[in-house]
Amino acid sequence: MSTTSPETRLQLFTSVLAAVRTGIIVFDGEQRVVLWNRWIEQHSHLPASSVLGKPFGEVFPDMADGRTHIAIREALRNNFASLISQSLNKAPFPLFAGPADAASGTRLQQAIHVMPLEVAGLPRHCMVQITDVSTAVSRERKLREMAVELESQTLVDGLTGIANRRHFDLHLEDEFRRAKRTGLPLSLIMIDVDYFKDYNDNYGHQRGDECLVRIAGALGAVLNRSRDLLARYGGEEFAVILPDTGCDGALQLAETMRAEIEALELEHGHSGTATRVTVSLGVSTMAPDLLANSGSLIHAADRALYQAKRSGRNGVAVYNDEQAAKV
Ligand code: GH3
Ligand code: MG
Ligand code: MG
Repeated sequence: MSTTSPETRLQLFTSVLAAVRTGIIVFDGEQRVVLWNRWIEQHSHLPASSVLGKPFGEVFPDMADGRTHIAIREALRNNFASLISQSLNKAPFPLFAGPADAASGTRLQQAIHVMPLEVAGLPRHCMVQITDVSTAVSRERKLREMAVELESQTLVDGLTGIANRRHFDLHLEDEFRRAKRTGLPLSLIMIDVDYFKDYNDNYGHQRGDECLVRIAGALGAVLNRSRDLLARYGGEEFAVILPDTGCDGALQLAETMRAEIEALELEHGHSGTATRVTVSLGVSTMAPDLLANSGSLIHAADRALYQAKRSGRNGVAVYNDEQAAKV
């Protein structure tokens, strides 16, 4: 078994300190630099000889009285260790990956540990350990960007599991073009929950969400053709695209939907219309030759919905070119 002498161990220790890929600075009780390892030399472009013996505030004038400086003071005075959160303080030390980054002022992203060091026979020292977390930070940023990107591409509404607004827009464009080609009518139903603000205000947002899930389920159950599409249009509004469906068919479906929601018997003690949750529905149908664009179909269904609301809610109204009448 071989034993190493204290001298050899000291040499080894010095080599390790020079080799580690993390920055290590040690300050004495007066906040003067007493150790400055090679990693710090490389990334600060300051040789140890130019900083040893100098106080923190002189080496890092821009950081005087900042978070790191306070942490060092706390470590020396009160024996406190701290981690300077990377998310709040991105890059306090002027450290750079290379000369190009130094020239452009692009600092390494840093995780900083400040630790008190007890040294036998000497006042307390403080070690600052700096780790380059640039890779982790940029990976995290990329993941976040990807999540946002994926979300914008999704077709499903997160709460109810039915089609979302994006899916609705894409499907409507498809069916609009198809209707023009085939000459078959296209209908749309817009659905809005009655007095839903009062529901939320009285039963809470969570119950409100649960209610929307139940409504989506009941509306979806009414549809049975593969190209029919129920979507969450936004908030407490739903929309249904009905290809190859004329006004009569759309009205029948809308009335069935209205009745199904009423039949759920979801208590609503603060509705101005009923004692349970109800919906109002607006139907629009246009023959393909009259279809200016898909927006006009939405606009027409919206007007019908407004009419249904004005006529007392819990009802269906239809809008086509000549009429906007309650059914
Ligand atoms: P009206 O009968 O005229 O439609 O009255 P309303 O209260 O339903 O109409 P308004 O548009 O003023 O309020 C809609 C409310 O729906 C606002 C908000 O409290 C609620 N809401 C919208 N989106 C959501 C959601 O995702 N979850 C929950 N819980 N509530 C929502
Ligand atoms: Mg609304
Ligand atoms: Mg509403």
